[in-house]
Amino acid sequence: MSAPLSVAIVGAGPAGFYTADAFLRRGAARRIDILDRLPTPYGLVRAGVAPDHQKTKNVVKVFDRILRDPAVRLIGNVALGATISYEELVRLYDVTVLAFGAQAPRRLGAPGEERAGALDAARFVGWYNAAPGAADLSSSVAAEAAVVVGNGNVALDIARLLAKTPAELADGDIDPAAAAAIGAAPLRDIYVVGRRGPLQANFTAPELAEFGGLAEAGAVVSAADLPDDSALADVAEAERPKKRRNLRLLRAYAAAADAARARPVRVRFLFRASPAAILGGARMTGVRFERNRLEGGRARGTGETFDIAAQLLVSAIGYRVADGVAGLPLDAARGTVANANGRVAPGVYVVGWARRGPTGVIGANRNDARDVVETILADGAAAGKPGPAGLDALLAARSVETVDYAGWRRIDAAEIAAAQGLPGARPRVKFTRVADMLAAAGARARR
Ligand code: NAP
Repeated sequence: MSAPLSVAIVGAGPAGFYTADAFLRRGAARRIDILDRLPTPYGLVRAGVAPDHQKTKNVVKVFDRILRDPAVRLIGNVALGATISYEELVRLYDVTVLAFGAQAPRRLGAPGEERAGALDAARFVGWYNAAPGAADLSSSVAAEAAVVVGNGNVALDIARLLAKTPAELADGDIDPAAAAAIGAAPLRDIYVVGRRGPLQANFTAPELAEFGGLAEAGAVVSAADLPDDSALADVAEAERPKKRRNLRLLRAYAAAADAARARPVRVRFLFRASPAAILGGARMTGVRFERNRLEGGRARGTGETFDIAAQLLVSAIGYRVADGVAGLPLDAARGTVANANGRVAPGVYVVGWARRGPTGVIGANRNDARDVVETILADGAAAGKPGPAGLDALLAARSVETVDYAGWRRIDAAEIAAAQGLPGARPRVKFTRVADMLAAAGARARR
């Protein structure tokens, strides 16, 4: 085997950790530095996974094991494109793997998106998950009716959290200010609107089933929107069981819709409609939808419109890689880093959502990472670049305060301690400011 490589992985989320793991299993890396723009690791497991889905977050135990490997370093608070340029990083490491996900929202493109109250999932999820830099959206959620556009699991996360009572939110790690704002909001109707039909919805049954067990909210579905089982014949075979489970749940909701309508909060599922305009003045007052019909599985506008009065809209229609890293080639149409089977440039690879777009659950990144590492090894990258010592010198020259694994554990301990005595089984109160994280980590500028 050729000499072990120095590897930089950009992004301490699932794709980054599974890449490190694949390198370790192959014994192919001399040193693996996992860089993250934040002082905290875990990417979307910390900042994306819904705060009331704590079991999903158990995967961090796997990531922690990787961080304890002597060949691996966590280097938090180092942002590609700000702290260090893309070119500098690529010059330092034998192999650079971009694993920073897709964090910018896809735009609806409907007129009126600038009105107050019209938000995208990236902002909204960042807010309730206490992402540093997230704007305070408390005034936006002070709405009687909300519209969530999209039929993926992110749309369901947002609708479910809006529908929950303070007691239902108390067991998770939702930002306390967000929980208080949601608890105080006069929300009565939450519309989840898909542009295609129930059989095309991307959400999955366990997430859909949660709407049947909420304390105050009930799911309202119209039986007229639901096809009978014969329509499943048109669905790809691999997708059929998933769609059948969704259909069964939607039918159960339709059967109980009268009772759900009488509940204090209604989550209303609407299908075959696209936002045509966000109505109102400086603040939105409603959404105009155009009804769609399906043509060859695609949504086509019919010209017929209807309005929903709402003061909040969250579009959860997917993500794309953010612009802004000089020299990084992007595929604008796909919203990814431009790549061919994970190859970006000599010695540079991409993995996870940044490679394939924002699809797939956390575990999907394991195979993706393994494939990319096999590609890297097959390409035969040569060892010999400066690696970690070069990065350390550059960060020291710039007096960058970085956070290593021990520093992260101090942040972790402080967040856990902050939850002591609070109601429910709250696991932590997250810091929302990078400066506070650095202070808790005991970070010092490198010398
Ligand atoms: P997603 O599953 O791809 O859903 C995006 C939704 O947006 C689709 O319903 C899509 O409809 C719709 N959409 C796209 N463009 C639109 C437009 N212009 N107008 C109206 N609707 C539009 O994405 P996601 O919900 O962001 O989730 C991302 C990934 O994370 C998924 O793989 C998801 O399963 C995963 N995730 C999992 C969980 C969980 O397991 N609990 C939780 C959250 C996220 P079309 O189908 O018509 O394009």
